Amino acid sequence: MGWRRRAAVPVIDLHTHTTESDGSLTPEQLVLAACEAGLEALAIADHDTLSGYDRARASAAQAGLDLVCAVEISTRFGASPRARSAHLLAYFPLEPPGAEFRHWLLEAQQRRRVRNERLAQRLRELGFDITLEEVSALARKLTGRVHFARVLVRKGYVRSIADAFALYLGEGGRAYVPLEKVALEDAIARVNAAGGLACLAHPGRLKWDLRDQLGGLRAMGLAGLEAYSSEHTPEQTELYLGMARAWDLLVTGGSDFHGDGKPGVRLGTGRDGNLAVPREVLEGLRAAARGRAR
Ligand code: AMP
Ligand code: ZN
Ligand code: FE
Ligand code: FE
Repeated sequence: MGWRRRAAVPVIDLHTHTTESDGSLTPEQLVLAACEAGLEALAIADHDTLSGYDRARASAAQAGLDLVCAVEISTRFGASPRARSAHLLAYFPLEPPGAEFRHWLLEAQQRRRVRNERLAQRLRELGFDITLEEVSALARKLTGRVHFARVLVRKGYVRSIADAFALYLGEGGRAYVPLEKVALEDAIARVNAAGGLACLAHPGRLKWDLRDQLGGLRAMGLAGLEAYSSEHTPEQTELYLGMARAWDLLVTGGSDFHGDGKPGVRLGTGRDGNLAVPREVLEGLRAAARGRAR
């Protein structure tokens, strides 16, 4: 199968989504796609659930793919009403977390259900013919805004998923309903208690100044920054690599692949080849996790 393997890079992708959250490939399909892309390691980091990782384990073992357990948690930083959002990636590179952490994730899924009910209601108030049932039918474990966007596209209300977010579902959109999120500090503490490594996802997307906060976040137990991201310009990648060095934080990286939920973002290589995550990144995570376990 050597012909399938591309050049030496990219070798790993540590931020991907499956149909267990809002990606469009099943866990099994994602494992195959990762092998076809020549990836040596893949982390599944679905929103608020580990079930994509759980399901992919058997296929990954069969395919000889190094599968890493992760989850992406939507959090808020700072006190409301001026709270800002942040996505926190929790990595469990040695073994998946136990029952207590999984139970905590179920609470986040419950808050999401409440938000989804309100969002469906709001869309109906705007005159759309849409029910939560039909939206949830497109999802498995976890219904997200991407599923709402797909229904809006399918019914011809908007032309694209991007339009659905810009006009209705995104912050500032007419149907926007915020998710009640956990505090970033609490999420970091939970991840640490479960033996995981808490890393800030795509820091380039933060709408607050990370530089001022890094010392405090590190003291709370933040372990790393996702410096390599398909959402980053080369300058941003350099910026976050520098911050990680300065604050002695780990570096992580991934594409945030969602399949056709995020058109243009490819597994491993990101947007137009703007991503190449070095394998050392995963070695760093494993070394840190081993250090903790001791
Ligand atoms: P949710 O977690 O249900 O609030 O949905 C958030 C997810 O929607 C993000 O993680 C992205 O996958 C997706 N998303 C957010 N903004 C956009 C956008 N402008 N276009 C497409 N997908 C988006
Ligand atoms: Zn997503
Ligand atoms: Fe994210
Ligand atoms: Fe993501």
